[in-house]
Amino acid sequence: MQAVWIRNDLRLTDNTALIHALKIAEREHEPLLLFFYLDPLQLAPETRSHDYFFAALADFYASCQAKNLPLYLITGPLDQAFATLFDQFPTLKGIHYNVSHRGYGLKRDRKVADMLLDKGTIFKGYSDHHLHAAHEILTKDDTPYKVYTPYYNQWKLRTKRQPLSLDLAALQRHVIQDISGKTRDGEILFQTLCRQIQGDYADWLGEENAQARLRLFCVEKMHRYHLDKDFPSIDGTSRLSSYLSTGQLSIRDVFLQVSQAPDSQGKENFIKELAWRDFYQMVYAFHPQQKELEVMEKYQGIPWQSNDEWFAKWQAGQTGFPIVDAAMRQLQTEGWMHNRLRMIAASFLTKDLNIDWRLGEAYFAQQLIDYDSASNIGGWQWSASVGTDAVPYFRIFNPTLQSQKFDPSGAFIRQYVPELRDVPDYAIHEPYHFEQKLLEKEGIELKRLYPPQIVDHKHQRLQSIEKYKYYEKTP
Ligand code: FAD
Repeated sequence: MQAVWIRNDLRLTDNTALIHALKIAEREHEPLLLFFYLDPLQLAPETRSHDYFFAALADFYASCQAKNLPLYLITGPLDQAFATLFDQFPTLKGIHYNVSHRGYGLKRDRKVADMLLDKGTIFKGYSDHHLHAAHEILTKDDTPYKVYTPYYNQWKLRTKRQPLSLDLAALQRHVIQDISGKTRDGEILFQTLCRQIQGDYADWLGEENAQARLRLFCVEKMHRYHLDKDFPSIDGTSRLSSYLSTGQLSIRDVFLQVSQAPDSQGKENFIKELAWRDFYQMVYAFHPQQKELEVMEKYQGIPWQSNDEWFAKWQAGQTGFPIVDAAMRQLQTEGWMHNRLRMIAASFLTKDLNIDWRLGEAYFAQQLIDYDSASNIGGWQWSASVGTDAVPYFRIFNPTLQSQKFDPSGAFIRQYVPELRDVPDYAIHEPYHFEQKLLEKEGIELKRLYPPQIVDHKHQRLQSIEKYKYYEKTP
């Protein structure tokens, strides 16, 4: 018997481990088991990223059932869960899985590999989540690239693997249908977790929705991507990230459909973003401490201010900077934030409030439905100027200017900060600057509506630059 360990690759289409395991099962005339491990160490029901993942898992589970492809669920501490698996399926000869090149998943897989050594079970990993795996594109000295552009220049030259096609009928013939007499601990826990799902993610679940969004983006939006991608009030980006982070969409499918679209500046820019995704997973794979430590060693130990009140206001979208507040409220309501706003919100936390990027990274990790450790850490270290190829420390976003440039009419702000809805355009980016005028001319009493700015940007900017400068010089 062969088995496929499903994890954050919640799809049947172009699922590398699944398709290879099926080939072996067909060749050897063996049954195939599909299983998922509910890892107690990864259960955090109170976080939105968890909530979304379980909604996606529930959707996958249901769609497998509808195709007569039962998914067996195991749980408990790692050794016990796998002991149960082998008790229940003693003829298991091979476990196939898509590799996690970094973080907790990598450590867990190493433990499983050790556990299986004396059993003689094949534990076979496949590269699946990225167009190019972490160790695939290195410098001539076999070291990881430190700067994105030379990495990208190599990345774009490399051939991208085509999506693999699935023979669904063959899968249905081989997948073990009757798992009803087996241990049900995993199933019981799964049902409990499903009942706890809070969000309504109906529009962002499943392979069909993912494929539809991909098609829509390629046909209607991609040619304008370079023009629209920085404006949060425009639905101009692909919004594929949550499908990619849970594996509901294959990155090779994305690349193939994008490549088949007519050439355009938008297409070129979009492909560069896909390369950032690969770049950051490469950085994380080579810096496994990156969740705790800055990649740029000179900034390790750089001081951050502890200010719970400011942090809470940032989280709640109550900083008095409309664009930052709108961004943070988008995150709260949707579990997703536009890329331009992620940069603004992260810059504000680390440079204006001088609060540790690790706190921001952890908060995003809880809230984002597209949470991806490598991209999130990479994005935070970029914004805090402490990572690989990060924004220079002296180029600090001015939230008001960013707001004027990327949300000129204030349409996005008004959507997420309804208390500013009636504030006229001239005052929308910096309402307190026009406080007197608003009261006299428009009859708007700001104080009752919206908080004043919690910091003075100019002052905080200078302080921040001084801090980095000191660490720049210190050997
Ligand atoms: P599009 O603009 O349509 O881009 C297409 C795809 O390219 C995205 O889905 C994503 O997979 C990839 N991509 C785009 N930009 C980046 C980038 N800068 N880095 C890595 N990959 C990128 N992305 C995540 O997927 N998960 C995260 O947890 C995450 N955290 C971030 C935290 C910060 C502080 C910052 C600045 C960025 C973060 N990003 C993260 C990157 C980026 O913001 C999102 O990928 C993007 O906003 C998702 O929306 P989209 O699918 O419409 O993107």
